[in-house]
Amino acid sequence: MPVQVSTPAAQRSAGRAVWNGMRLRCPHCGHGHLFRSFLKVADTCDVCGEELFHHRADDFPPYISIFITGHILVGALLELQAFEIAPWIYFATLVPAAIVLPLALLPSIKGGIVGLQWATRMHGFDDARRNPALALLTAPRASA
Ligand SMILES: [Zn+2]
Repeated sequence: MPVQVSTPAAQRSAGRAVWNGMRLRCPHCGHGHLFRSFLKVADTCDVCGEELFHHRADDFPPYISIFITGHILVGALLELQAFEIAPWIYFATLVPAAIVLPLALLPSIKGGIVGLQWATRMHGFDDARRNPALALLTAPRASA
């Protein structure tokens, strides 16, 4: 499968990059692995060589993961209250869900955020910022 290599000035599709990241794939080529372990982003793509260590996802993926999990669990809790259910059933179902669900969501959410950062050239993902000579080549020219 051919790997597309973009020029520094090439447009980066945010939707495709986020989707590739959510599939735990390189936001650039969509084939290489984004992570080298559970939540550790690989330094470079193993297929196209794109530098991935520039990401700064920080606390945003856990925040999003907890936000989604909270909404799911609160909805489930409110729905379960319509039935007369013993309290131990709440404890046996919702507590494990509160632990497992954020952990299951976290890699895809982090991948999507890294993909968004790559597509919007945040931090070190901007080729021109890393190499000022590229900024001169890709800057819009003023018409005379
Ligand atoms: Zn790649």
